[in-house]
Formats: sequence, structure tokens, C-alpha cells
Amino acid sequence: MSRTALRICPLCEATCGLVLTVEGTAVTAARGDRDDVFSRGFVCPKGASFGAVDSDPDRLRAPLVRRDGELREATWEEAFDAVAAGVRPVVERYGPHAVGVVLGNPNVHTVAGALYPNVLLGALGTRSLFTASTLDQMPKHVSSGLLFGNANAIPVPDLDRTDHLLLIGANPLESNGSLCTAPDFPGRLKALKARGGTLTVVDPRRTRTAKLADRHVAIRPGADALLLAAMAHVLYAEDLVDLGALAPHVTGVGEVEAAVRDFTPEAVAAACDVDADVTRALARELAAAPTAAVYGRIGSCTVPHGTLASWLVDVLNILTGNLDRPGGALFPQAATDRTPRPAGPGRGFALGRWHSRVSGHPEAKGELPLSALAEEIDTVTDAGEPVRALLTIAANPVLSAPDGDRLDKALDSLDFMVSVDPYLNETSRHAHVVLPPPPPAQSPHHDFAFNTLAVRNQVRYTRPAVPLEPGRTAETEILARLTLAVGGMHGTDPAAVDAMVIEQTLTTSVREPHSPVHGRDPGELTALLTGENGPERRLDLMLRLGPYGDGFGARPDGLTLERLLAHPHGIDLGPLRPRLPQPLKTRSGKVELLPGPIAADLPRLRQALAEAGRPAGLVLVGRRHLRSNNSWMHNIPALTGGSNRCTVHLHPEDAARLGVDEGQPVRVKGAGGAVTAPAEITDTVRPGVVSLPHGWGHDRPGVRQTHAATDPGVNVNQLLDGSLLDPLSGNAVLNGVPVTLTPLTGAQL
Ligand code: SF4
Repeated sequence: MSRTALRICPLCEATCGLVLTVEGTAVTAARGDRDDVFSRGFVCPKGASFGAVDSDPDRLRAPLVRRDGELREATWEEAFDAVAAGVRPVVERYGPHAVGVVLGNPNVHTVAGALYPNVLLGALGTRSLFTASTLDQMPKHVSSGLLFGNANAIPVPDLDRTDHLLLIGANPLESNGSLCTAPDFPGRLKALKARGGTLTVVDPRRTRTAKLADRHVAIRPGADALLLAAMAHVLYAEDLVDLGALAPHVTGVGEVEAAVRDFTPEAVAAACDVDADVTRALARELAAAPTAAVYGRIGSCTVPHGTLASWLVDVLNILTGNLDRPGGALFPQAATDRTPRPAGPGRGFALGRWHSRVSGHPEAKGELPLSALAEEIDTVTDAGEPVRALLTIAANPVLSAPDGDRLDKALDSLDFMVSVDPYLNETSRHAHVVLPPPPPAQSPHHDFAFNTLAVRNQVRYTRPAVPLEPGRTAETEILARLTLAVGGMHGTDPAAVDAMVIEQTLTTSVREPHSPVHGRDPGELTALLTGENGPERRLDLMLRLGPYGDGFGARPDGLTLERLLAHPHGIDLGPLRPRLPQPLKTRSGKVELLPGPIAADLPRLRQALAEAGRPAGLVLVGRRHLRSNNSWMHNIPALTGGSNRCTVHLHPEDAARLGVDEGQPVRVKGAGGAVTAPAEITDTVRPGVVSLPHGWGHDRPGVRQTHAATDPGVNVNQLLDGSLLDPLSGNAVLNGVPVTLTPLTGAQL
């Protein structure tokens, strides 16, 4: 007997609502939920494969504990006993910073990943935090922190109302969007064109998104900041700067004019390989459009000037008056945001409050670069203790970070390692304890992170579609028990973690004059919370204290968990609305258009311009496939094969020059190593550029991902040595990296 259950898809940032078909406890089919208030029935091949993802036979069913050198199944009690016995002595002997924490991307796709890591980090007290953000998006956080005083205040393009959209380094037809949550992003782009709007794509590759564009500019990889600076220059030079309603909220407009004076379209033309006339046209089109938005993503972040490029994206939106207005780029307002405090000066955003021990990289947003993890483990210095114990939570940095071979060896040298992961993968195989969360159908879902990036304000929550299998532990409980075990409270009831967070939140809220619960009794408020368990009570708390919440009775029509549960397809909270100056937390209370760290980094961009004339060889860029996202998806047969292959894309001119035939194995060599993969000759990459996808390289021993091992591919990050970073954000440089390419024949194979 089958039934249906609703579940928000956790497989990418688009957060589509799914209708699952469930037979017994197995998910046998998934389709888009036509009644979902946000996604309206959209589903992509990944979401349609939810059942296969959920039932992957390689998912671990029980904890593993290393005994006599081998990982063996154990009880949960044995596993947490081992965690406490392994981590606490490291903390006590070497201090908390000797315990590293790595948070992988899937944490932003789970309730547990949203609610517990901050508590865990607080309990541990470590500064050795590394996350996937420094492989991906940290430049955007840093530029938002500097411009707006809030690293998480990221404006998103108003896709459904804009007249002109400029995408740089983004390929939403494959990714379905990133740092911009928009179910059916492709459909929204087509709708933009259908209503007479224009789409411009700047990308070294003629991606599927670029093919849809009215104008595609095939820029040289890594030159995004130069092009954007030249566009800003044109706005000033041609008197096209018009901040409109933004003007009272912005400082530094004149300073930016001086800062971009050198970056004329002619000056950057060779470095970008973009004609000066094209750069001028891009700027004029942006200024002339009734509304417009510039949106930069991974290709513009994972480059040497990623923070400058991210900053310039918003500078262009501001100079054309498009920030914070319908049709431009706006700040979403999620239902679980704290009740907005009144506008006014804030504490600002600080960078470099501490530095990494070996290379002295500054922290950004409390994180050190993931590229530096290996050296923080394997290098002894006088500057403090190396990382001796490591917690990895939904992370596979051996594949996702530069120079996996070095990290692989470094992980083997740790005193102790814990992985929270459903798979025995390239990273978790080194752990002393592996704690596997249940499959997604057995977990609740709410998008705490992505609702802060959504192109429409809405709120949805789905309870587990099927009950926890016997022997499973909820992911929320795993992280709560992990928090207690590493924080010196092993054996305490895990519910104490949620109770503590609720108490602390309410105690703070009742003291805040702007809070709807100002002056009330925290105990009385706690008794009003609903929900079946601690995580649900925390969600209820956040909803009720949030901008749409009932304020525990202060706004009787407002949101509560009960009200949300009565709307299983979600509640639409309306289009994005102008919010400035409220989101600003800068010390001035204004948008600070030329922050000090940005001004101090601009000479490096000028230097890049000065060096641009030198002869350049091949450079590497990444690429994304619609049926892929994280490395573990390569273990799902329905999501691999066909065009989703680990091949080296190169242009026909380069293939002819280097003597490469279609399908021929080629050796690509970079500073960190070399990999061999088949050539795929295509004019979708520009001459001088080669492309490899990420997340491959499933051929290490001890990994339990059976299907992935049948077509392992190669790890593109092995071409990197981890030394190339955007200095402001610590983000790894993954695009525009110099490589050489050699075709292999006969005995070389
Ligand atoms: S677009 Fe993303 S969220 Fe939507 S179904 Fe596909 S993977 Fe899931």
C-alpha cells in the first residue's frame, strides 16, 4: 500500500517542494509538488532521484568505531563513549584550538546542520574552524560584511521582476542557482526574456545559461573584477551614476570614482579579452534598464580577486540605483530571522581577528581557509599547537579542497578524528568514529539558510516522510550528543542542548527593547512553545520571535509552528521588499561603498592589470552538471553517466595545436600535481581554457561507495597546491589556474 508525503528537496539550493511516493518505509518515486507555494511543481533530475539517493545501499546504517586499526560497527553508546574519550584529552592537554572542525556544504541543507554547529563550536571553544565556504562563497560574505556590516546580508536578484539581468560566473541552468534560492531558475530566466527583459552572461564557457542569453561575453578566466571595475568606471565617466532612493544610505561614492579611475575599458581589454566597446555597452545597458540586477557567483568568487569582484557586483547595483528596489537586488527577509532591530549604527564587520598558525591567513567570519587545513595538521611551528583532533561534519575535504593527497596523509597523522557522514568516503575513512545520520526521508526539513537568500519570501516545513528505522539516531540528536561529548558533558540528556539554547535566546530577547517579548518571563514563554521535540520547539521559537511571528501573542495573526504545520505546502510571505537601512550593521549605519580592506586590496588588482600582457598558457576552470552537486552524488546510478562525465574540455584550436584527439587521455598538470582524463573537444570553452568538473576521484582504498568506484574520474583539486587564495576571504582559487596539458599515447598510458 503506497502513500504520499511532502518533503522539501535538500539536494541543491533551489529548495523545491517534492511529493514522495512511499511504500512501507521506502521512497519509490518523487515528483514536484504543484501546490508548493514557492516551487509550483518544478523538479530537476536530482530531485526526481530522491528515492535512489535515500535508499543508496552504501549508506552506513550504524556507527563505526576503529578497533585494532579497523572500523567496525558499534552501538551509539560505544561510539559516543569513544568520541568523548578521544577528543577531551586533546582539549585538556593541548587546548581547544588543537581540535579542528570542518563543516561541509550539506550542513546548510539540514535542520541539524543549521541548529547545532554553532552550539558545538561554542562548547568546544576552538578557533580552528574550516568550512566549504572558503571553497565557494566566502568572498561574497566578506564583501557583504564590509559593505553592509553583516556578512550574511546578501542581496539577491529580483528574478521575477527585473528588466535586465547580468550574470557573471554563474550557470543556473546547471546549478539551479547558488546564493540565490529560486526553484525553476531556468524558467524564471525564460520568463524574463518572454516579458521583454534582457539577459547577459559573462563566462569563459558557452554554458547552457550563456546559450540562453541575449549577449554572452566569453571573458578570460579570473578577470571578472577588472571587467566590473571598468564598468563602474564607465558609469562615472559617462555621468550614468544615479543612486536614486539609495543616496541617503550610502557613503563613499566619490571615493569609488577615484578608486576605479585607472580601470578604463581600454586598460582592461587585453586582460579580460573583452573589447572596450563591449564593456561600455554592458555598463550603458545596466544604467539604461528600467530595473536591473548584477549577480555574480562561483566563477567570480573562486579567483584571485574574488572579494573585489563580489564587492564590484554590489557597487554596480548601487551606482545604478538598483540595490534594494523591486526589479533590482534585494535583501530577503526569512521567517526565522530575529525580529529586526531598529536601523542605526552597528558593530561593523571585522576581518583577521586571529590568523592561521602556519601561513598567517586572516580569519574571515570566524573561519580559516580550508586550503590551509593540511598544513595546520602536518606542520609544527612555534605559533601554537597543530590540529591534533578533527571533527568533520558532512564534509569530504580530501576531494573538495586543494591537494587532497597532502590532506589524505595529514588526516592519517591525527590523534583522533570523528566524521558525521552517511558514507565511508575519501575523508571519513580516516576517522576513528563515524556517526551516520539517517537518510533524508527520515529527517525533518526547513531551510534556515536558503530562506535568507530566496527570491520570494516564504516559509515551509516538512516533518520526516518516514519514521526513523530501528537502530537509527536522528541527525539532530547525533549533533546534540556530539556537542555534549566534545564539550565535556558526555552522558547528559541531549535534550539539554535545545533547552539551553531556548533559555539563552529567551533570556536575551526579553531584555531587548525592540523584541515583541520585551519584559516578559522566559519561563512563561518556554511553556508556550509547541513541537514534538527540541528541534521543533526551537523552530517554533524562531518563527514566533521572527519578523512574521506571533511574538508569543503580541501579534495574534503571526506565524507559529502550529500555523505552519497547518499549511503543508508552505506559506507565501510575498515578494521581496526594500529594507534599507534596517539590515545595515556598519559602524556608520550606512552602506560603506569603499571599505578600508577593499581599498587596500585594489593595488593588487592594478598589479594584475600591469602583468596581464605577459604570454599566458592554458588555464583551468571548473564546471557543474545538472545531475551532480556534492561528491557523494556520484554514487547514485541515476545521476551519473551520459554527459555527466569526468572529461577534460578543451577548445578545437588548442586540441589541434597540442595534437589531441577526441577521447584521447591527456595529462593535465598544475602546481599541486597531475591527473589524467579523456579529452572532450568542444568549442564551448574559449581557446586557452580547459575545464574539469569537481567532486570526482573515487579510487582511494577503503572507500565504500560502490557505484562511484566503477567510474572514479579524477580529482581536479589535485592540480592545486593550496597556496593560491583570495587574500581577503581566504577562498581557494579554483578558476583561472595555470596548467599544462600533454596528450598521452602508447606506453605513456
Ligand atoms: S532544482 Fe534542486 S531543489 Fe529542486 S528538485 Fe532539483 S535538486 Fe532538488
